Amino acid sequence: MSSVPHAESYYAASANDKVERPQLADNVEADICIIGAGYTGLSTAIHLLELGFSVTVLEAARIGWGASGRNGGQIVNSFSRDIDSIEKTVGKESGKLFGEMAFEGSRIIKELIHKYNIQCDLKEGGVFAAINPKQMGHLEAQKALWEKHGHMGHLELLDGKGIRSVVDSERYVGGLLDKSGGHIHPLNLALGEAHAVESLGGKIFEDSAVIKVEQGDNPVVHTAKGSVKAKFVVVAGNAYLNGLMPQLQAKSMPCGTQVVTTEPLSDELAASLLPQDYCVEDCNYLLDYFRLSGDKRLIYGGGVVYGARDPADIEAIIRPKMLETFPQLKDVKIDYTWTGNFLLTLSRLPQVGRIGDNVYYSQGCSGHGVTYTHLAGKILAEAIHGQATRFDAFASLPHYPFPGGHMFKIPFSAIGAWYYTMRDRLGI
Ligand SMILES: Cc1cc2nc3c(=O)[nH]c(=O)nc-3n(C[C@H](O)[C@H](O)[C@H](O)COP(=O)(O)OP(=O)(O)OC[C@H]3O[C@@H](n4cnc5c(N)ncnc54)[C@H](O)[C@@H]3O)c2cc1C
Repeated sequence: MSSVPHAESYYAASANDKVERPQLADNVEADICIIGAGYTGLSTAIHLLELGFSVTVLEAARIGWGASGRNGGQIVNSFSRDIDSIEKTVGKESGKLFGEMAFEGSRIIKELIHKYNIQCDLKEGGVFAAINPKQMGHLEAQKALWEKHGHMGHLELLDGKGIRSVVDSERYVGGLLDKSGGHIHPLNLALGEAHAVESLGGKIFEDSAVIKVEQGDNPVVHTAKGSVKAKFVVVAGNAYLNGLMPQLQAKSMPCGTQVVTTEPLSDELAASLLPQDYCVEDCNYLLDYFRLSGDKRLIYGGGVVYGARDPADIEAIIRPKMLETFPQLKDVKIDYTWTGNFLLTLSRLPQVGRIGDNVYYSQGCSGHGVTYTHLAGKILAEAIHGQATRFDAFASLPHYPFPGGHMFKIPFSAIGAWYYTMRDRLGI
């Protein structure tokens, strides 16, 4: 039995398997050692193995134990800051490259699901729901921007009547449907990817926290009971890395977000809430996100705790949000509640780079990580294989410190979020 079990979530309770991998208890070698078995680590592993490298993955807890096994399951295209703001930072030419990559993460997920026959309740279609006319204006601009970058044919603006036909809530004035988005059971996706890694000859060790990375021509990655000597290391610990690589901690902040899952709904109630079975997220700065599970529960998430303290009563935080959207659920029971951490950066863009020549990292996708992490895995694998154009584009994004430094970054960020939440509430 692993010493660090999965969070007690609906996903852990409905996982396809509970197979435990061994703990690393030996000194071994591999071309690449990956730290962390979330989507970043697993996608990197699959892409490297497909290129013919040998790979060992070390996971402190269980496969998908971090955000990858606990998230809202929403496959959201583009990045946490959109292509236009990236373009302002990196210029037009490189901005075009980001535009081309903006929908690749969701394609990678769907390719992996089909290629490796991963059973994770994939459903097509995601909706961005506008709460006020200002947000609707942003969605119109977002559609135009994405289409300008070639993402045509699967985006549809929804007016007031249109949004009511996909979400039975009076909160929204309109929306944007992305038929190339969708949703999945996130832990089952991670577990399926782990099986894919193993089917390609990769090794995964659980309960094997990395305690030290010894850099050099052939870096050595140490756990309490063993080590991996490698040509390259990929650090994919994201919000759970703690103090392992202090240089990666300095310009990012772990944040908690909470999710609840209802009891199974009747077929009629489920079909009335979300008739097309799309996932939905609203356009607020601190957004709500929800969808139906494979067995017709409502999975509803929202809220952010800066600094990632675990709230004592998650239902008390999320249930009022859920009832604001769906008052018709007032008598429905909540079966599961949990919290998980994502990694926020000041720019809300991921941090990608190298430490020395052969230690690579990607972290900090700031909320919308399901698609980005899969793209990141492909890009890290390409870079290690010697094609670094796309890696270099991500690595050129600046990493900023949070205002207030180590002491005050949490209260400063909370004040910033309060300001944006007030603007959302007032629709300005
Ligand atoms: C509650 C919640 C809801 C979310 N909802 C969505 C959503 O609906 N859509 C979306 O796009 N994004 C969502 N996100 C964000 C998304 O889940 C993450 O961005 C993404 O899963 C990050 O993947 P990762 O592999 O980088 O990190 P993680 O999945 O967190 O994996 C990191 C792994 O590294 C391991 N690790 C850390 N340190 C060490 C070490 N020293 N040694 C060995 N292993 C180590 C950890 O144990 C962990 O398993 C959500 C996040 C949360 C928390």
